[in-house]
Amino acid sequence: MGARLVVVVLGKQGAGKGTQCDLMAERYQIPHVSTGDILRAAVAAGTELGARVKAVMDAGALVDDELIMGLVAERLAEPDAADGALLDGCTRTIGQAQALEDLLAPGKVALALNIDVPTWLVAERLSARRVCRSCGTIYRVGDASADSGHCAKCGGEVVQRDDDRAEAITARLAAYERDTAPLLSFYAERGLLETVDGDQPVDVVAAAIDAAIERRGLR
Ligand code: AMP
Repeated sequence: MGARLVVVVLGKQGAGKGTQCDLMAERYQIPHVSTGDILRAAVAAGTELGARVKAVMDAGALVDDELIMGLVAERLAEPDAADGALLDGCTRTIGQAQALEDLLAPGKVALALNIDVPTWLVAERLSARRVCRSCGTIYRVGDASADSGHCAKCGGEVVQRDDDRAEAITARLAAYERDTAPLLSFYAERGLLETVDGDQPVDVVAAAIDAAIERRGLR
């Protein structure tokens, strides 16, 4: 096992971050940590945290940095993250990126991976996305599970996320351009940025990510 591998996975909503993180988690044996999933689980469980963030999430806006980084700090302190983690959907603002540097010093972020997909394509992917309420499996309109509303894996209900509706998609992509796109320069200046073309089949994107990680000697 090499040094702690903390990967910040960047990319617009719908770029395929979740799918690629699942694949990387298996290959590198480090956990896939999605702040969106943590927040959605809190909303579904009806916790105090869930109640605090639900309206912000439904509107497609960003939850505040302090709350997010508190959740990330807790998650990274868990034993399964000792060798690293794949941060999906975090960092999302310069404030979060700075807070993560402070949190991880001196281990630091090993890599910022940008999965690049044009805006028109992610808008199309998001509006066609359906998700299983129980196991989180992602489907597309046209898949049998999406059209029947029943998950082929677990039998759970397959629905459209509230924030995958048209108005929320517009707000989320605007938040990406305003708050998250500046992170590309932030990480590039630190020599940590690798960009892969996300407008390719899943296995081709995965191979490009592997190549980047190997090129940098991270695994
Ligand atoms: P995602 O599934 O990553 O698109 O996240 C869904 C929603 O959760 C976002 O639209 C935000 O409202 C919230 N969220 C998730 N991660 C973050 C983050 N790092 N910073 C702020 N808000 C976040």
